[in-house]
Amino acid sequence: MSSRRNFIQQSMLLGTLPVTQWDLDRQKKAAPIVISTWDFGKYANQAAWEVIANKGTALDAVEAGVKVTELDANNQSVGYGGLPDRDGAVTLDACIMDHEYRCGSVAALENIVHAISVARAVMEKTPHVMLVGPGALQFALENGFKTSNLLTPASEKAWKEWLKNAKYEPVKNIENQLYQPQNSKVLPGSRDNHDTIGMIALDQHHNLSGACTTSGMAFKLKGRVGDSPIIGAGLYVDNEIGAATATGVGEEVIRIVGSHLVVELMRQGLTPQKACIAAVERVVKRNPARAKDIQVGFIAINRKGEYGAFALHDGFTYSVKTAKEELVLQSDFYFKK
Ligand code: ASP
Repeated sequence: MSSRRNFIQQSMLLGTLPVTQWDLDRQKKAAPIVISTWDFGKYANQAAWEVIANKGTALDAVEAGVKVTELDANNQSVGYGGLPDRDGAVTLDACIMDHEYRCGSVAALENIVHAISVARAVMEKTPHVMLVGPGALQFALENGFKTSNLLTPASEKAWKEWLKNAKYEPVKNIENQLYQPQNSKVLPGSRDNHDTIGMIALDQHHNLSGACTTSGMAFKLKGRVGDSPIIGAGLYVDNEIGAATATGVGEEVIRIVGSHLVVELMRQGLTPQKACIAAVERVVKRNPARAKDIQVGFIAINRKGEYGAFALHDGFTYSVKTAKEELVLQSDFYFKK
């Protein structure tokens, strides 16, 4: 009899379950880690880290983290101050997922700053995963969320400027132009017309969670929903394997169910970095010509706290926080010059 079978039988006799790889990983000292998309993720990571450092859960951490970005008027791609749809309405998409496959999501939500918290309420207070549009707003109001105008003067100005030509054209991210928080010298709208904060975290209890929130494509068609609130596309968490989240043109991420793909690739043994590369390659393979003109980026972590990122093009940055370091990193990318 093999020693493994022997061991399993003995374990059963003793009334204990056999030790799985997952259990072995749990015994390893996995460093807590928070990782998020873009350079502005650095500020979100700091809020998330406060929760993690105080032995809080990854779920609380990612919510607290991305709320910082949602509230930042200078960030025109997430929450308050987000660029509106083509009719001038700021509509938010967000989702959240924890270590037990619990998840919640809202799409095309208007007039509520913290879409991520509404998504969490959907997860915790309803038997559903996703609420959209007026239904999501009604649910938010019934659960004590307050309405406010999300369209800042800067975003209204950018929209009015766009209306002059009214051309819907997602652009690639501007290379090496780092975001600055309040009092930014970066002019509104000059960075890009889309971005998202996706955050994934591994806490001191060895649990993973993730959150993803955006105002989506600037000047989008009314009702357009991207990947960010779609569980599996914009975000996916499997506590036995790892977590991934996406940014970039959501339609391309949805087509390959990007974040779920990254997690499944890690399940097959790939490192987070290699899994992100393979998912980006899938985007290219599906439509090489389109991939040349758009940006898509993924970040991922596994249960050991290893992380990776990869994008179609130069210009994608991501932020990492561990007990030892705080980093803003340039992601590697597919289309080299
Ligand atoms: N993924 C977002 C969307 O498609 C936008 C972005 O991250 O750039 O709505």
